[in-house]
Amino acid sequence: MTVIKSVPDKKHPVIGLKNFVFDPSVSRLLPLPQAHRFKALPLFLIEGRLSVAMTDPDNIELLDEIARITGCEIAPVSVDAGDINSFIARAYGCNKGDIITDYRNEIRDEFNSISVLNLLLEKAVFHLASDLHLEKSGKEVRIRMRIDGALIEIKPYDTALHEEVISRIKVICGMDIAEQRLPQEGKSIWSGGGKEIDLRIVILPSVAGETAVIRLLNPVNIRKNIEHLGFSDSFTAGYRKLIEKRQGMILICGPTGSGKTTTLYTTIQELDLSANKAISVEDPCEYRLQELTQLEVNRDIGFDYAAGLKAVLRADPDIIMLGEIRDRETAHIALEAAMTGHLVFSTLHTTSSVSAVYRLIEMNLPAFMIVDSLLLVLTQRLVRKNCEYCRTEREIGDQEKITLRNMGVTVSVHYETRGCSRCGGTGFNGRTVLYEALNINDAVRKMIVLGKGEDEIRTEALKSGFIPMGANSTALIESGTISLAEVLQHLRES
Ligand SMILES: [Zn+2]
Repeated sequence: MTVIKSVPDKKHPVIGLKNFVFDPSVSRLLPLPQAHRFKALPLFLIEGRLSVAMTDPDNIELLDEIARITGCEIAPVSVDAGDINSFIARAYGCNKGDIITDYRNEIRDEFNSISVLNLLLEKAVFHLASDLHLEKSGKEVRIRMRIDGALIEIKPYDTALHEEVISRIKVICGMDIAEQRLPQEGKSIWSGGGKEIDLRIVILPSVAGETAVIRLLNPVNIRKNIEHLGFSDSFTAGYRKLIEKRQGMILICGPTGSGKTTTLYTTIQELDLSANKAISVEDPCEYRLQELTQLEVNRDIGFDYAAGLKAVLRADPDIIMLGEIRDRETAHIALEAAMTGHLVFSTLHTTSSVSAVYRLIEMNLPAFMIVDSLLLVLTQRLVRKNCEYCRTEREIGDQEKITLRNMGVTVSVHYETRGCSRCGGTGFNGRTVLYEALNINDAVRKMIVLGKGEDEIRTEALKSGFIPMGANSTALIESGTISLAEVLQHLRES
């Protein structure tokens, strides 16, 4: 453990972090880009007071900024400037090789199904994994965790334990233990280290044997501030202003797994929920927020999005969060709500912002309702970030440049990764967001009112300052943050 010692000629205690055990849920109170930029690293949180190791602990402006981002009172400690980057890398889990080794060291021969499952869940929570997969593949057991979107394989437990582990999972979420031929779904709660994490579990009867997938709804993954989401500073500032509005609709779009839900929840948490009544209709409620009244869709009893939304509107809401807009009826009620003094947030399953607007038009919703209520259509993807330890710069050939320009990407250099021990050979570390934000301005409104097609709306939007996702990725590619291949893959899906 760490020794904090006072150095007479310095105002702040100096901290040695060589053997410090970092808690990722504390480190990540400050997003990684800011940790690098500020040369600061959160260490521990005690009663709202966050100890932060810094190379410049006397910088008052920096302290204020960190306090604002983390929402904590800051207690700075001094750390050597030569060491901070490697500590940051360790604290933010930039060394995936560690996950495998530290798990290997802890599994013991005498472990039974209960202790194995507990250890796996504890590790998954610690590494902020979103999913834990316990699969039967052939005669072997395969265990993988999804961390920052990538699956990391870890050493399996003894194959003989697998059936018992699956039974144990069925017990903790109240499934039928005897049923081995049909898929089952269930919920449970894992608690440990002062945390409670909701679990969503699916058991699949594969031909090789039963497979379990456990989704961990770790509230730490719902980032504390919009700054944590990876949008640019200028977008974040504009977005903050927009969500202070009293009425209108903000749509967040993208395919499954693009981080829409995280953006929604983070946004809702930023709003003043004590002065405003906020109600959500979700399918399912993924995370529980204390100041949000959350309703869950239940189609078996006819309680769908439209029915939920109608009920919400009778309950004097200020802010409404609607999990998804899928049909005309729901869209109509939502737009009406956004026109009559409510701030409405929802998602649409479309790949671009302009196509989202066009989807509403195609639903035969009156143009005046769309232009009167829609404020912003944000479309996003989650992309893997390059490992900074094994990336190398590459020039782009002339022919390639032309092909890229046709896809809306204009770059002259990009970075490739070859995989190293720090990224577990994957070439990637962490994720960020790739996005496009369509502000519904007068030019766009005019096109909607005139009943123009998708292409004409896009052309007019571009003229009035809309930056599509491809063009938005340029700086991230050229700085080496993300790879060209990763961007192209996401653009092709559009
Ligand atoms: Zn690497």
